[in-house]
Amino acid sequence: MEERYGRLVDRILFKSIKGSKSLESLWWRDIMKIGDDNDDAGFIQNLAIKLGDGGCVPFWTKRWLGSRPFCLLFPLLFQVLEGNEVSMQSMGRWENNRWVWNLAEMEVELSLEASVELEELKEIPLGIEPRKNEHDNFVWPLNEDGVFNVSSCYKKLMQGRADRVAEPRRMGARSLEAAQILWELRMPSKVKIFGWRLIQDRLATKSQLIKRGILEQNDAACCVFGCSQIEDIQHLFINCAVLRRLWGSIYDWLGIAYPVGSDCISNFLHMLNSLRFKCSRKRVGCIWMATCWLIWKQRNDIIFNNVVADMDEILHSVKMLSWWWLEIGNNRKVLCNFYEWSHCPLEYM
Ligand SMILES: [Zn+2]
Repeated sequence: MEERYGRLVDRILFKSIKGSKSLESLWWRDIMKIGDDNDDAGFIQNLAIKLGDGGCVPFWTKRWLGSRPFCLLFPLLFQVLEGNEVSMQSMGRWENNRWVWNLAEMEVELSLEASVELEELKEIPLGIEPRKNEHDNFVWPLNEDGVFNVSSCYKKLMQGRADRVAEPRRMGARSLEAAQILWELRMPSKVKIFGWRLIQDRLATKSQLIKRGILEQNDAACCVFGCSQIEDIQHLFINCAVLRRLWGSIYDWLGIAYPVGSDCISNFLHMLNSLRFKCSRKRVGCIWMATCWLIWKQRNDIIFNNVVADMDEILHSVKMLSWWWLEIGNNRKVLCNFYEWSHCPLEYM
């Protein structure tokens, strides 16, 4: 078969980059037409890539990580490229035998929503590396043995349709209120984008990655702070027993009662509403966001850089960062020094 049709994988995948003329048998052509281009139940969309050097792997339109191609997961970024597909190999380079992604190069005048997508893309465990001098290959993931059959494709097609019907997501009134306050806070725009994703549950937590088909169901989904619970957004920022001690120290530092709520938005609003004046609320809002931002950074450092969790360091960094934002927000007319801030922040809010 390989002799007659050439290396199938090169031809199927390469075709979609170069748009070369199809030489497949009628049988293959019919199979490849199952589902339309945007249909994640189609034959091609469901081929999982076994990665070689990445030269034949279309970065955006084929699923090479998880169960959906990146053009569906990050539609606005893909739009910026005006639908121009590129190979995975051209999205990075080898530096001292280490693979480095070029994603930062996409940071050109993106809309807010597209920047949100870029941040999401950067956080997906791209710890995956192409393999030098190896052919790309493919497997059919809907069957346990990796061999294609029509019924598994059909099942996925129907399931995909049902998922899409249930998909539309609107912001609730509380999320909207939180988001409005978020944009008024004085902090760097990358932290606002982070906060926006947090409010909408669009951070790449492990359970979110499983939901979006990027991690497999049976991949380790445990919280990295060692509590052995599943990592989702409410766990990571509110309910984790290890991090609750950190939050306890933050609330103690501020002299604000620990909230009873167990979701991010109500805890954020609780902290804001603990203070009377609007400008104080904005400042305390920055502290809440700084805490979440630093938890997220440490969580990523644990996963990607093998850093050991350190709650004292996060606490110190929250104080430092919020003081710095406050100073910058005040055009660097010093309101208080760091020592005063770290001892009694409420006096300066
Ligand atoms: Zn935990």
